[in-house]
Amino acid sequence: MISKKNWICTAVVMSAFLIALLAAAVPKQPVAIAGEENGYYGKKAKYVFYFIGDGMAMPQINSTEIFKGTLNSSDPMYKEKLNFTVFPYQGMQTTHSTSSFITDSAAAGTALATGHKTANDVVGVDPTNTIKFKTMAEMAKEKGLKVGIVSSVSIDHATPAVFYAHEPSRNNFYEIALAMGNSGFDYFAGGGLLSPTGKKKDLPNALDIAKQKGYKVVNSQEEIMRLAKNDGKVIAIQPDLAAEEAMQYEIDRTNQLSLADFTRKGIELLDNPNGFFMMVEGGKIDWACHANDAATTVRDVMAFDNAIAEALKFYAKHPTETLIVVTGDHETGGMSIGFSGTKYETFASKINKQTMSFEEFDKKIKAYRATVGETNANLQDWLPILASEFGLVDLTAYDKQRLSDALAQSMLDSKKRAKDEQTYLLYGGYEPFSMTVTHILNQKAGIGWTTYAHTGVAVPVFAQGVGGEKFQGYYDNTDVAKKIMGIMGVKFQ
Ligand SMILES: [Zn+2]
Repeated sequence: MISKKNWICTAVVMSAFLIALLAAAVPKQPVAIAGEENGYYGKKAKYVFYFIGDGMAMPQINSTEIFKGTLNSSDPMYKEKLNFTVFPYQGMQTTHSTSSFITDSAAAGTALATGHKTANDVVGVDPTNTIKFKTMAEMAKEKGLKVGIVSSVSIDHATPAVFYAHEPSRNNFYEIALAMGNSGFDYFAGGGLLSPTGKKKDLPNALDIAKQKGYKVVNSQEEIMRLAKNDGKVIAIQPDLAAEEAMQYEIDRTNQLSLADFTRKGIELLDNPNGFFMMVEGGKIDWACHANDAATTVRDVMAFDNAIAEALKFYAKHPTETLIVVTGDHETGGMSIGFSGTKYETFASKINKQTMSFEEFDKKIKAYRATVGETNANLQDWLPILASEFGLVDLTAYDKQRLSDALAQSMLDSKKRAKDEQTYLLYGGYEPFSMTVTHILNQKAGIGWTTYAHTGVAVPVFAQGVGGEKFQGYYDNTDVAKKIMGIMGVKFQ
């Protein structure tokens, strides 16, 4: 007979047994791995394209749509969508770093490539340089995907670097170049290296070291176009580069390869049965915006959009296996559609009259300075050029005064130029006459600028393909990386 005490004991044991049975019957919830909760547990993307327009947010995108409208229609209200602005899934990301609401490209890129926030100037490590953050490109490589990194600026610049390097400063160009050679990634393309032999130019050339590690380094158009899959790991550098080892601004580009050419070649080389990850940066959108040059900006956004068209051609062949994500790392210039002088009107077609970037125009100013010297400059000499190269024919007395003042500053040796607050606000450290010409033209077009640096506004994200729906909503820039990792089937670390 079971005593009362034993009965209670048995009941307790039975209850515990029942609870254990019930617990076993309920499917176990997976232990959440940080970041994976933002990921995609369904079908994985085999091919991932990550397009980053440096300095590109809604103002750059919208002004390009309006500008394209003026090129392709006589209807003044027509604006033409870009390849990526018609993507089915769109969201927004915050861009702040750990050190500032206004991020730089290194901190923003680190967030976009690794899913971790860091401080401005830092590439792929925490702000104290003690923890290395693993990048999605490194994860993709480990998983057996081929990896490509393409940029229209130097390939050791902050945005490309955050995918393969880990440095306390984005200016450690030599160390970044060595990391490129050590990455084992399959395709680096676009601009060159800023410091291939170190700051004192006395170290072994990073490209030679890359060659020893099995890279084929090519820098002629013929060699680049001839590259084939059996060439293995490749570093393809645009010949005839512009300043700072970057590709030409699109507005200045003649017969050189375009960002789309480098993207198409990348697809050809990377395509393989295990899949690939390719990051393509439109790096000079940012540079044009730093210089407050709208015509150069919209042309570079269009070049970036043409590169996306190459990914879309690939997508059309592999729609169930491909993800394309397009975003920016931050806004640059405080660009806006709207200027106090033009109120509710815009005249975007005016910037179509501009035939060259501020950088090319700087060269003309320099040549003029060499001819006339410090004190003999005359705005009259420039009026025909401003008309033919910028379409500036309706200059007011106020415009002419600003232009004359700037021209006088531009004739001085840079050491002799005024360094006060007003000078910085007017010219931002750029060639004063160039800045004034593009400022006046932009203002007449109804385009405003607030800064020569970045701004802290949120940036749009556009996605198409496998897992694209995960990019809807308003989230942090680190989440963009976590979402891509989840969809690519690699684990955020
Ligand atoms: Zn940037």
